[in-house]
Amino acid sequence: MLKMSKVYLVTGGAGFIGGNFVLGLMKRKDARVINLDALTYAGNLDTLGPVMDDPNHVFVQGSIQDRPLLKRLFETHRPSAVINFAAESHVDRSIDSPGEFIMTNVVGTFELLEAFRQYHGAVAEEERAALRLLHVSTDEVYGSLGEEGFFTEQTPYAPNSPYSASKAGADHLVRAYHHTYGLPVLITNCSNNYGPYQFPEKLIPLMIQKALNGEPLPVYGDGRQVRDWLYVEDHCRAILRVLEAGTVGEVYNIGGHNEMTNLAVVKTLCGLLDTLVPDSPYKPHASLIQFVKDRPGHDRRYAIDAGKLQRELGWQPEETFDTGIHKTIQWYLDNREWTQRVTSGEYRGERLGLSEG
Ligand code: NAD
Repeated sequence: MLKMSKVYLVTGGAGFIGGNFVLGLMKRKDARVINLDALTYAGNLDTLGPVMDDPNHVFVQGSIQDRPLLKRLFETHRPSAVINFAAESHVDRSIDSPGEFIMTNVVGTFELLEAFRQYHGAVAEEERAALRLLHVSTDEVYGSLGEEGFFTEQTPYAPNSPYSASKAGADHLVRAYHHTYGLPVLITNCSNNYGPYQFPEKLIPLMIQKALNGEPLPVYGDGRQVRDWLYVEDHCRAILRVLEAGTVGEVYNIGGHNEMTNLAVVKTLCGLLDTLVPDSPYKPHASLIQFVKDRPGHDRRYAIDAGKLQRELGWQPEETFDTGIHKTIQWYLDNREWTQRVTSGEYRGERLGLSEG
């Protein structure tokens, strides 16, 4: 272990965003990462291949609902930062089985906060001053927008799906633990992410996969639902920035300034695949698009005002949608084995094709 390493406890670090975050952090060479992940269908050690042999990366299979385990990890590794990515994250699954979302997202966050509270109370004063817990959340807690306007940090919560309601519940607990117990927490609410290592049930990797296989590309309803897309590495950079410079107890919205309809996203993917896979027998890939019955309670439009993060902490995305989506498609083309491995096994593909990020 490096002498001056800062210790991070990352939960959900074998998932899409957590995995990208851990891979990015380990490149800095001054970080020691304790990576706690339950390895649900969405968590994959394949994602962590490049760091699995690194002595500064400690992988622990376990749940954020397991308070004794959390207590042990805090006492053994004495992290100065906790980043909570662990969650059930897929809206369609929350419609089919909301109970798991309550247990992981609400009860799990509560257990993590309780363990953190105990640890915070026990560490020496100098350590306590530097201690942070950053809770990673979503713009979906704000509900749905009309044609105009943006979500700001002041927008009232109005979650519409069991997923977003469970994230909202967790956010409220995190906020309350700051106000009640003075815990040094931060919350980030981010828009839709895309990029490498995303489980192929979410809109972009799912459509890439289906298009490559010549399968129909199922688009919900009229496809005109608007989402704001952010390249995952930009999200990870924003989280680090908030962790290092954010004001304790505050909320920061993170977004990509890339509002697009789902249909436009799918058409863009199809066009890029036509170019990047010139010998595909399924060209033009856009001919595979099929409209399917809309998701119940489907929010119409999300758009994030990330101005606070930009003004106060100087963050802005490095990727445009054009550059990010190009990189993403190329990554899925170069890493077909990753997709094959994560979709085989226990995952049975329920509701595949009925989803978005
Ligand atoms: P993901 O589903 O890809 O990964 C979640 C990870 O959490 C998996 O590795 C899973 O094994 C792990 N996990 C699940 N239950 C656990 C438990 N009880 N204990 C420990 N680990 C557990 O999700 P993601 O897309 O990487 O999202 C990460 C976080 O970011 C989530 O909190 C999500 O709400 C939030 N978020 C996601 C997006 C997005 O577009 N994907 C946007 C904004 C916010």
